Order: sequence, then C-alpha cells, then structure tokens
Amino acid sequence: MMRGKTEDPILVTRSSLPPLEEYVEMLKPIWESAWLTNMGAYHEEFKEKLKEYMDVPCLELFVNGHMALELALQAMNLEGEVITTPFSFSSTTHAIVRNGLTPVFCDINREDYTIDVELLESLITERTSAIVPVHVYGNLCDVERIQEIGERHHLKVIYDAAHAFGEELDGRGVGQWGNASMFSFHATKVFHSIEGGAVAFGDKSLEPLFYQLKNFGITGYETVEYVGTNGKMNEFQAAMGLCNLRHVDRSIEKRGILAARYRERLEGVEGIRLCRENPRVRKNYAYMPVVFDGYRLGRDEIFRILKEHNIYARKYFYPCINSYQCYRDRFRAEDTPVAADISKKVLTLPLYEDLPLEAVDRICDIILESGKGAGGTE
Ligand SMILES: *Cc1c(COP(=O)(O)O)cnc(C)c1O
Repeated sequence: MMRGKTEDPILVTRSSLPPLEEYVEMLKPIWESAWLTNMGAYHEEFKEKLKEYMDVPCLELFVNGHMALELALQAMNLEGEVITTPFSFSSTTHAIVRNGLTPVFCDINREDYTIDVELLESLITERTSAIVPVHVYGNLCDVERIQEIGERHHLKVIYDAAHAFGEELDGRGVGQWGNASMFSFHATKVFHSIEGGAVAFGDKSLEPLFYQLKNFGITGYETVEYVGTNGKMNEFQAAMGLCNLRHVDRSIEKRGILAARYRERLEGVEGIRLCRENPRVRKNYAYMPVVFDGYRLGRDEIFRILKEHNIYARKYFYPCINSYQCYRDRFRAEDTPVAADISKKVLTLPLYEDLPLEAVDRICDIILESGKGAGGTE
C-alpha cells in the first residue's frame, strides 16, 4: 500500500475527497445556468440537507467558518466583554476583537479542555454581554450548565463548534444549544466544502439578518441597513459540500476505528492522558489529542522523534491565544494556568479517513518505544 510506506510522510490530516467523477457531474448544472455564486441552487440545496443532517432548525451558510463566527457575533448586537477560552484556534478570539469587543479569558478544565464552568461565573461583570465557548477537538462543553449561567445573567451564548460537525448530545444536534453555533467546513475539517462555514441557530426571526450581513448589509434594491461584508458561499463550494455529505458517515466511521486503535494502544500508559469520553455524545473523531504529562519524554521530544520518522503531528493548540504576539500587551497567559500547561503538553496525532490502521500502530510503536529508550522501567 502506497501511503503506508515508511518514506511517505504522514501528515496530521489529509482532506477527504469524493470520487472525481461525482464532483465533475455536479459541475454541469453550474455551467448550464452560469450561476456561480449568490445563493444559487446548490447553496439552497446544501443548506436544507445540512439542516436535516445536523438536526438544527435554522442554518445559514458562509464562505468560511471564521466569517460565520464574526457575523454571528455581529448579529447578536453585543457590546463590552465576551468570555471565551484561550485554548482554541486564533479565529475564536480574533472574531471577538474584530467585532470591537473585549475578550475575557476563562481557563479550561483538565478533563476535556473545554471552558471550566466552575470558573465561568466569577468572570462575569456588568460589562459582559456574551460567552463564546469552544467545543474543542469535538469535545462538547457542559452545554446545560452554560445555558443555565447564560440565562441567569442574560448573556448570549455563541459556540465555536468548528470541531463539532455532525455531533449529537443525547441524540440531539449539538447546534441546538446556545443562541448560535458556528461550524467550519474547511478542507482540513471532518467534513468540508473546500472552504466554508455555517451558523446554526434557533430563532427563526434572525434568518434575514444573517442573509443580509453576509451580503454587504443590503436589505433591499436601494437600501443598505448594516455594515455587512461579503461572506457568501459559492456554488463550487456548495457542490463539494453536497458530494462530501453523501460520504461523511462512512468517513466518520473510519475515523472512529482509527481513534479506537489509538485509544487501545495508548490508554492507561503512565504519563499519557487521553480526553475523557462522554457516552452521551455521538462523536465525529475530528482529532486525536494526546497529553504527555509525566511521560518519560516531553511533548516536544515526541514531536521531534515522530518528525524524524517522517510523521507530522501538530502542537494544537500551541501557543495559547493569550500569549500571541498580537495580544501580548493585553493579556497574561498566567491567568489561565491550565490552558498554558496543556498547550505545552498536547500533541494531536495524525487522524484522517484514509490513514491506514498500520500507520496508527507504527505511530504508537514509536511513541511507546521511544518512551522506553529514555530509561524507563516498563
Ligand atoms: C477551523 C476553525 C475555525 C475557523 O474556521 P475556518 O473555516 O477555517 O475559517 C474557528 N475555530 C476553530 C476552533 C477552528 O478549528
């Protein structure tokens, strides 16, 4: 098998693609209609199919996940402070700052690295208008506690659900929680439309606003009511999304098998920590995060050794957002010690649909063998 060969690099992820003929077939109607973007037929079909698949009442599509999050925040009409976590992709905090809002960083918990709901309330001030929790690695936040806290303090809750496509809690689509949830369909995600994103929400009266915000704030032939942007998903993206949607269940199933193998090999090894599994969740196996905490080798050494074997894991997320260059003078990484600690110890291992099971074994062998070589007892 080609990809299993030692010489071929194994990257942390590899985009799933439908059979080429399937996509080419989808292009023909685009040529016939010459309708390339601006809410065309595929855009509308994709939207309806996604609502059903994701089990959410309302949904709007966007050119990418980041734009979806920026516009979800704009639609909520927020001001002042927004509580979020620094253990995420840059997009989460950037979307808050680019809306003219002030991020306030809450630490994460040590079990699944989502927002620490025990700390959350202590950060709420009279200036707080919203909470932006992250379903990091597809690990669902404590949505019930967050809802209760949000309601009690009259705060909007907007989830960064970029990692949580297709996930369910107790059989209900994860996008049903909060005022809105942003999903990313970037090429590197579990499910993609090349680039793309969506916001799921429950309040149907927001539908026109989302549509208008992604279309320059235009509300009529001669009226522009909002300072909107260009956030539209085009027909080529929607066609790719529709193709991939046909195969996504199988893709998640394959990822699940690989993730289970990682778990089987690494769970219970001293100094290696895997995320707590939530039996209430239908998982998408988006990532395989492993925390090296008291292992014979540190995260950076494991990263280097894997690289020597042509295997490219990712320090995801490192550094934490509150120690980025662009935020350096505004925040202190020490304020979120758990996030700071985990970001130095975590490595996401390669996980994608076409990764051979033998590759997972080889990666685990390297990790376990190099641990022994470092002078351990086992
Ligand atoms: C991918 C991602 C985003 C941004 O999505 P894009 O579609 O790449 O713009 C936001 N937040 C998180 C946590 C992500 O992983």
